[in-house]
Amino acid sequence: MMTSSIPENPYLLLTPGPLSTTKTVKQAMLRDWCTWDDDYNMIVQDIRAQLVSLATKTEGYTAVLMQGSGTFSVESVITSVLPDHGKLLVLANGAYGQRIGKIAEKAKISTIVLDSGELNPPDLNLLTKTMATDPQITHVAVVHCETTTGMLNPIAEIGRLVKDAGKTYIVDAMSSFGGVPFDMVDVGADFLISSANKCIQGVPGFGFIIAGTAAIESCAGRGRTLSLDLFDQWNTMEKQQGKWRFTSPTHTVRAFKQALTELEREGGIEVRHQRYLENHRILVQGMKHSGFRCLLDDKDQSPIITAFHSPTHPDYSFPRFYNELKSKGFVIYPGKVTHQDTFRIGNIGDVTPLDMERLVEAIADSMYWDRGQGESR
Ligand SMILES: *Cc1c(COP(=O)(O)O)cnc(C)c1O
Repeated sequence: MMTSSIPENPYLLLTPGPLSTTKTVKQAMLRDWCTWDDDYNMIVQDIRAQLVSLATKTEGYTAVLMQGSGTFSVESVITSVLPDHGKLLVLANGAYGQRIGKIAEKAKISTIVLDSGELNPPDLNLLTKTMATDPQITHVAVVHCETTTGMLNPIAEIGRLVKDAGKTYIVDAMSSFGGVPFDMVDVGADFLISSANKCIQGVPGFGFIIAGTAAIESCAGRGRTLSLDLFDQWNTMEKQQGKWRFTSPTHTVRAFKQALTELEREGGIEVRHQRYLENHRILVQGMKHSGFRCLLDDKDQSPIITAFHSPTHPDYSFPRFYNELKSKGFVIYPGKVTHQDTFRIGNIGDVTPLDMERLVEAIADSMYWDRGQGESR
């Protein structure tokens, strides 16, 4: 067998995905697979079963894998789940919630977006009132970790209201699934969406949807597109035991299988969550020590990604700060909040508390705008 060494990453990705992956995940991609061979299809079937067991202990659930980035999986659900006369209510408090609304609008699905603003949790009273006064509403969608700000939305609380009102509940858990523990049945989620390159720590190329088997079966014939048809994709994978309808991202899938094995070896979602919490704690402590302020209140903050106010010093510029950090081996993320100047730092991926300690030191060292007079640097 030919072996070759994998080059070291020049920097650690502290972003919400794609993120830093282990060498062994990347190594898993170094062979080719035949998409109709049992060897490959068995990997797909294993992945589907593993995803279901990560999502819930309840029987009767199933998983579908879908080509593309995470948005493709969100679009697959929105365009495949609502019946012709269905109406979607979206709880939005950031760019990803807004994107769900845009997807529905493009597909000419009747939609109402309740936007609580980027810095606020969803308005649950307004949700209850709207569901009560608009009987046309059939489905409710929300983002779990709104990656725009790093806010963790209360999906279980929302789920209770949605289920009490008898609506179908769609949760975009893209940036939280695998890194924040929850059981989708406890949360009341009917359709749960995530992707390969977030907290499971795989490489980009596909997303996945977990749902009750009966719920997916009820979507037959509802798809508004060909390639993103959720039922058709599931039906082929199910009937032909791991077969994708169209070319599957074989290397990404194999790497994902390795990522799932590594999640299990780490101790599962609970243990990974603890690591992310610790990463986040060290980050925030170090940043506060250097004079930075978090955008969100602690109570709303996820351990996935953290937004910080940009320094107001006239000499500060994000590109320069970014490049100083990049040259020291860390890539951070620009802000996405509309009315405030922020930047973001991710806590997820193959990143350890030790890495975060090195990061906060590198940040303290990169604050060129703060260097006192007489310092020659
Ligand atoms: C990453 C992410 C997505 C999907 O983004 P892609 O760029 O399409 O992978 C969707 N929702 C949330 C909350 C995300 O964090």
